Amino acid sequence: MAHAAQVQRMSRLMIKTLRDDPADAETASHKLLVRAGYVRRTSAGIWTWLPLGKKVLENVSRVVREEMDAIGGQEVLLPALLPREPYETSGRWEEYGDLLFRLKDRKGADYLLGPTHEEIFTLTVKDQCTSYKDLPVILYQIQTKYRDEARPRSGVLRGREFQMKDSYSFDTTDEGLAESYALHREAYTKIFERLGLDYRIVSAVSGAMGGSASEEFLAPAAAGEDTFVDCPACDYAANTEAVTVKVAAADGSAHGPVEELDTPDTPTIETLAAHLGVPASATLKNLLVKVDGEIVAVGVPGDREVDLGKLGEHLAPATVELVTADDFTDRPDLVRGYVGPQGLAGKSFRYLADPRIAPGTSWITGANKPGTHARNVVCGRDFEVDEYFDVVVVEPGDPCPNCGAGLRIDRAIEIGHIFQLGRKYADAFGLDVLGQNGKPARVTMGSYGIGVSRAVAALAEQTHDESGLCWPREVAPADVHVVAAGKAKQTELALEIGERLGAAGLRVLVDDRAGVSPGVKFTDAELIGVPTIVVAGRRAAEGVVEVKDRRTGEREELTVEEAVARLGA
Ligand code: ATP
Ligand code: MG
Repeated sequence: MAHAAQVQRMSRLMIKTLRDDPADAETASHKLLVRAGYVRRTSAGIWTWLPLGKKVLENVSRVVREEMDAIGGQEVLLPALLPREPYETSGRWEEYGDLLFRLKDRKGADYLLGPTHEEIFTLTVKDQCTSYKDLPVILYQIQTKYRDEARPRSGVLRGREFQMKDSYSFDTTDEGLAESYALHREAYTKIFERLGLDYRIVSAVSGAMGGSASEEFLAPAAAGEDTFVDCPACDYAANTEAVTVKVAAADGSAHGPVEELDTPDTPTIETLAAHLGVPASATLKNLLVKVDGEIVAVGVPGDREVDLGKLGEHLAPATVELVTADDFTDRPDLVRGYVGPQGLAGKSFRYLADPRIAPGTSWITGANKPGTHARNVVCGRDFEVDEYFDVVVVEPGDPCPNCGAGLRIDRAIEIGHIFQLGRKYADAFGLDVLGQNGKPARVTMGSYGIGVSRAVAALAEQTHDESGLCWPREVAPADVHVVAAGKAKQTELALEIGERLGAAGLRVLVDDRAGVSPGVKFTDAELIGVPTIVVAGRRAAEGVVEVKDRRTGEREELTVEEAVARLGA
């Protein structure tokens, strides 16, 4: 569906552009959206959308709506002001902690401002759908959400009040849920492509929500708060916690026998590497943790850090704690600072290791005696690994699991998230429908979000240049920005061409402001970032205008007829 044609005269538009960046702004989208008159800060993380900003926000919403409708989504609008009780039932009244805006009504009853709506959608379907014949259902809304973010920042990128498209799928079978999920994945792909966003899909660590499949849509941008790993050589992209390296066995036959080394006062890798004059990567570091109370050692190369998040994910639901000095008192077999797996792995502790500690590799590690290390400790010969998994913090240059090229670590903005919730909320609220066999069937759900207001900022981040915003046409507040660069003659021609472009189906902004110099108008046009700029200037009397592409800077002189023919929708 096309945009509705419109001619907006700037002399009648409420807009005040600013030459200077707002004092507290750090990111390009924050600076430019404020300076170009799209948004105004009302309070920390709370923003007013001015006329041009509202148009962009609406354009994003329209694309989202069209693609959600295309997969059979039905639009609804739930309240933002919600009673406490359903969130008490799901446990989230407590779990959300400080992120939740809580308030009371005049009678003292508790309410909250919705941060996301799984509870209320579950109740809505429980109320409306009774039979398997009523499912599957996909419901969505584009609505204002509230989260009392610890660090609202970057303008509308992370607000305390923001616009989200949230949708929820309801199915009776796991296959049905997989299909609803796939439909959303496809719709999101179309949405972000239409919006002109550069994005990657990465599998997300589902963490505490405990679902099966979950993916995030990330828009690479320096201003992003998420880091992700991507491969410059293939299309591999992943959450930093989700990268896995494979075990590649080495030939261990050439290594000499284990040899003890006197290494006094070297309880850390740094002191050991300095003492022996070897790189930290030649040493094997053994981190001791307690897994449900039992001591487990985790072996990684000395130059790498253990990713405690990955470790926790891998061992969940067991609890993981670091060992303390007390844990060594009744364990004479474990010499603090000098632990090695030889002789102990599989006996004194279960031994988990990073794939880099592959069979056949040789290491310098603790000799299980105070002040002593051992060299030529070979994996598979001198110790066995009970279980391998990639447990180190990923670093730039690590091999791509797909093609082996050196990985990059980049920053990105999370613009969307799709998630197979499963039966968590259906269980909490007893959401059943009458099944095909005449018995109650528990419903399974998915939840899917898009940051609609955040997408505006993400687009600004990815598309701006040094002169200002630079919108893709689908989201731009207008198709053409006509500048009257001169006096009466120029203004007359600008208005005429504006009317004709409007009649041809375009959305046009005409800068007909009196008493504003051409220089200021040009600067504003670049800042506002409409894709095509038409200037009625020097050759206005001959009916000739200049047509400029905002992105490429290419310009061309055309007659009014030619310009209308060229730009007409
Ligand atoms: P984040 O990790 O950035 O805090 P989230 O994972 O908590 O986000 P979800 O609960 O997955 O967010 O919400 C769905 C989408 O809503 C996110 O993918 C993001 O695009 C958007 N979003 C979340 N929080 C905010 C916010 N404070 N301001 C603007 N958009 C947001
Ligand atoms: Mg998320």
